[in-house]
Amino acid sequence: MDDLAFGTRNRRGDWSPKEPAGTAPLFTFPPRPLAFLKWLPQYFLPYNLLFALSAVAWWRWVLPDVAVMQTLGWGWILRLFVINCLAVFLFFGAFELRLYVLRAQGTRFKYNAKWPAEQRSTAFFFQRQNIDNMMRCFGTGLPIWTAFEVGILYAYANGYVPWLGFAQHPLYLFVLALLVPIIHETHFFLLHRAIHWAPLYRWVHSVHHNSVNPSPWSSLSMHPVEQAGYLGVALWHLVLPSNPILALYQLHYAGFGAIPGHIGFDKIELGGERSLDSHAYIHSLHHKFFEVNYGDGLIPFDKWLGTFHDGSAEGEARMRARYERKKARLNAAAGAK
Ligand SMILES: [Zn+2]
Ligand SMILES: [Zn+2]
Repeated sequence: MDDLAFGTRNRRGDWSPKEPAGTAPLFTFPPRPLAFLKWLPQYFLPYNLLFALSAVAWWRWVLPDVAVMQTLGWGWILRLFVINCLAVFLFFGAFELRLYVLRAQGTRFKYNAKWPAEQRSTAFFFQRQNIDNMMRCFGTGLPIWTAFEVGILYAYANGYVPWLGFAQHPLYLFVLALLVPIIHETHFFLLHRAIHWAPLYRWVHSVHHNSVNPSPWSSLSMHPVEQAGYLGVALWHLVLPSNPILALYQLHYAGFGAIPGHIGFDKIELGGERSLDSHAYIHSLHHKFFEVNYGDGLIPFDKWLGTFHDGSAEGEARMRARYERKKARLNAAAGAK
């Protein structure tokens, strides 16, 4: 595909889309019903439907009977851990293999022309982004992921929290399933904004930002405190009356769903003129500029708070003006001491 029909490439070779990044036409005033209808399929396809189906598949084929989950036995827990690791390895690995190992589309639609594998940095274990990212993903990310999963299932299996059935509460659970991405966006935005507070940033979130040029393995490469906060979104289903399958969906939405923002390419070519939008632009701008786009644009939190960057020259100017104001404030505060 000709990526220059969709965007431009600067002198460094970095590609950016012509179309500025937009937030979803949800929570907009005045409402935009036509834009909403046009956008609606994206709410389900392809990612959300995939993550919802994966939760059903785990319930059906991976998890044991409820009676088994009433006790914490090593057998089912280790099996779940291994299957989670394998699933992440295959899912994230498929993007990595096609786009970064085989480089099937070269740097077409790639935001940053450089390849992480060709850049050593002392910020990473063994100076290698991929090795560092994978160690954090599988070393702490997947154990934390599985621990939350086990805790949630154990709580449901033992009746410690209300378990609503799909037959008895179809409408409520359907609405709650539709809200899973909204719960995620709100939880993620608040957590993410909090860990950009300087002391927490240095201690926790800087680990994730070591990957200035993110690739698929960067998705869950975080400090364990951030991994716990991020994947802990599934615990809302112990607070809200829910169903274990929806809790799994929420967990998979966070875990598997971390990848879209870190693919590093705007479109994934599927052969001929067909392609899949990655929806990575908003979050890749966050990795590039740090103090913009704390959310993923499903809810326009960043627009409301003035931290949205859509990738355009105007967005860039707004960001620079904000940084200048911040610098002036800090200087004034330092002068007053
Ligand atoms: Zn990120
Ligand atoms: Zn951040």
